[in-house]
Amino acid sequence: MGYLRNSFKVVIVTGVPGVGKTTVLSHLSKIASSRDMKMIIVNFGDFMTETAMGEGIIKSRDELRRLPLRKQLELQSLAAYRIIEYASRELGNEGILVIDTHAIVKTPAGYLPGLPGYVLDKLKPDTIVVIEAEPEIIVERQARDKGRYRADFGGIEGVRSLLSYARTAAIASSISYASTVLIVYNREGEPEAAALEILKALEAL
Ligand code: ATP
Ligand code: AMP
Ligand code: MG
Repeated sequence: MGYLRNSFKVVIVTGVPGVGKTTVLSHLSKIASSRDMKMIIVNFGDFMTETAMGEGIIKSRDELRRLPLRKQLELQSLAAYRIIEYASRELGNEGILVIDTHAIVKTPAGYLPGLPGYVLDKLKPDTIVVIEAEPEIIVERQARDKGRYRADFGGIEGVRSLLSYARTAAIASSISYASTVLIVYNREGEPEAAALEILKALEAL
C-alpha cells in the first residue's frame, strides 16, 4: 500500500480564496478534539510562507502567488515534502492529516495547479474536498476579511470562473491516486455544518 497511500489518512481541503476553508477547518479541529480523534490540520500556504519569508522575498502570504513561477514551484514542492515529514513525526502510522490548500492558484503567469504530480506523489490523498459557496457570497466574505489581500480575483465574474477551474482541477488531481472528491457547500453562518460533513466522509475512509 505504501506506493498508493501514506500510513496515516490524508484529506486535502481546497476551494477558491475566501470561500471559508480555514474557518471550516477551525471548526473541524474543535470537533475532532472533543471526540479525541488523532488529527492534525496544516496549512500548505503557511509552509510556503515560512520559507519565502525566511528568504526575505515576501512580506505577506498573498504575495506568494505573484512570485516568479519557478520560485512558486520550488516552494510548493518543498512544502509538500515538509508537510509529510511533519505529519510522519506527529502521527506515526495512524490518524488523519488534513491539509488546507488550493487545487488551482491564480498567478500572473496563468492558472497554476496546486496539486500537480510531484505534490501528489508526496501527499497521496485519500480524499480531495472542494469547499464551495455562491460567487456573490464569496466576494462578500473576501471583502469582509480585511486581514487578507484578495483583490486580484476579479469580483463576482472572476470568482465564478475560478470556482469552475477549482472544481475541475480538484477532479484532475484526484485521478493519479484514486482520491475521492467531495464537494462541500459552506453555507452562510453555518461553517460547523460544513465541518461535520467533512467529518462524516472521513469516517468512511
Ligand atoms: P484563503 O484561501 O484566502 O485562505 P479561506 O477559504 O481560508 O481563504 P477564510 O479565511 O476561512 O477563507 O474565510 C474568509 C472570510 O469568510 C472570513 O472572514 C470568515 O470569517 C468568513 N467565513 C467563512 N465561512 C463563513 C460562513 N460559513 N459564514 C459566514 N462567514 C464565513
Ligand atoms: P492560503 O492562505 O490558503 O490562501 O495560502 C496562501 C498562499 O499560498 C496562496 O494564495 C498560494 O499562493 C499559496 N499556496 C497554497 N497552497 C498552494 C499549493 N498547493 N500550490 C501552490 N501554491 C499554494
Ligand atoms: Mg485560508
